[in-house]
Amino acid sequence: MHSQNPVFIPGPTNIPEVIRKACDMPTLDHRSAAFARIFGPAVAGVKEVLFTRTGEVMIFPSTGTGGWEAAITNTLSPGDTVLAARYGMFSHRWIDMCQRHRLNVQIIETPWGEGAPLARIEAALKADREHMIKAVLVTHNETATGVVSDVAGVRRALTAAGHPALLFVDGVSSIGSMEFRMDDWGVDIAVAGSQKGFMLPAGLAILGLSEKAAAAMDSASLPRTFFDFRDMRKSYAGGGYPYTPAVGLLNGLATSSRMLCDEGIEAVWARHRRIAEGVRRAIAGWGLRPCAATPDLYSDTVTAVVVPEGMNGTDLVKLAAEKYDMAFGVGLGEVAGKVFRIGHLGSLTDAMMLSGLAVAEMCMADLGWPVALGSGVAAAQDYYRKNGLPAVSKAA
Ligand SMILES: *Cc1c(COP(=O)(O)O)cnc(C)c1O
Repeated sequence: MHSQNPVFIPGPTNIPEVIRKACDMPTLDHRSAAFARIFGPAVAGVKEVLFTRTGEVMIFPSTGTGGWEAAITNTLSPGDTVLAARYGMFSHRWIDMCQRHRLNVQIIETPWGEGAPLARIEAALKADREHMIKAVLVTHNETATGVVSDVAGVRRALTAAGHPALLFVDGVSSIGSMEFRMDDWGVDIAVAGSQKGFMLPAGLAILGLSEKAAAAMDSASLPRTFFDFRDMRKSYAGGGYPYTPAVGLLNGLATSSRMLCDEGIEAVWARHRRIAEGVRRAIAGWGLRPCAATPDLYSDTVTAVVVPEGMNGTDLVKLAAEKYDMAFGVGLGEVAGKVFRIGHLGSLTDAMMLSGLAVAEMCMADLGWPVALGSGVAAAQDYYRKNGLPAVSKAA
């Protein structure tokens, strides 16, 4: 295994050296002022990345999935109705978690490759005159299909329906990489994880809460202990945790959010958009297409590539790992085998991306796919040459 090859899975992402060093810390007392000096900047940095001024940040030793659980158990009660559209593996898993928590999930079935169906969401909210729906769940970036949904549009649907439901957004594979505006979009809970846009190892669930979401914690009766916002709030007031925090990861988070802010959050979004567009040009060069149904749905952090008729995307992922020491993502659930996924988020440059595209191309040639060597790489090169920014070597 050649550990210097970048990974092209949609999380965990490549960890910049400076962040790895920040995570590598001697033990320190998490009840000391030294811990507060790490934790404070981490929370402040996350607020900037989430584009929130009024939101409250909570960070659990967990992963994105734990963030989902924290969001629902702190704000809802058994039997509550939530509204969610299912259009991929991650939206499906969030629905499944709600059902296992005895919530009544009103599901809008949506073809994989499409995003949150705004008109149907608005119709469902308008039809709910009694306001039984307590929360609307949106997977901002469906990592299984490479589809971005219009969160601002879901907020507009809530407004148009005059509906008071909370708006919960899974931003695990978008926050810190793609446009995300917690306050402007009226997001009540935003969920992220450490190992995607934040470029850290897995191990943190990162949440942003609106005042309205925070207010729900007192009436919510779903059981929770480890994830109880009330305990966190009490301990945060004293600069600490109700239990042992992941100190090294939090120090890494302070570093990574500073790196994102130094580059400029909007510049980070633009970099992801540019790199993603090069990937899309390459895919077109191969004569293939993304799983996302229309260009407005194209994700800038992950592309699921529909494989040629009769071929299997999982074969490509296996070959890339075994022959070239490079990681791509397999298709999940309904699209298993039918796609392979190229992750293009986190710490990534045009040059790194070209290496991934070149290896994907070699694998296709090895597997006898009808793709000419160079066809995709040249299309991406052409795009990056004309649209690349001068390299800024600020932090890394
Ligand atoms: C990765 C991912 C998750 C799961 O996060 P974990 O950190 O693996 O628990 C949830 N939602 C989306 C959209 C993801 O990409």
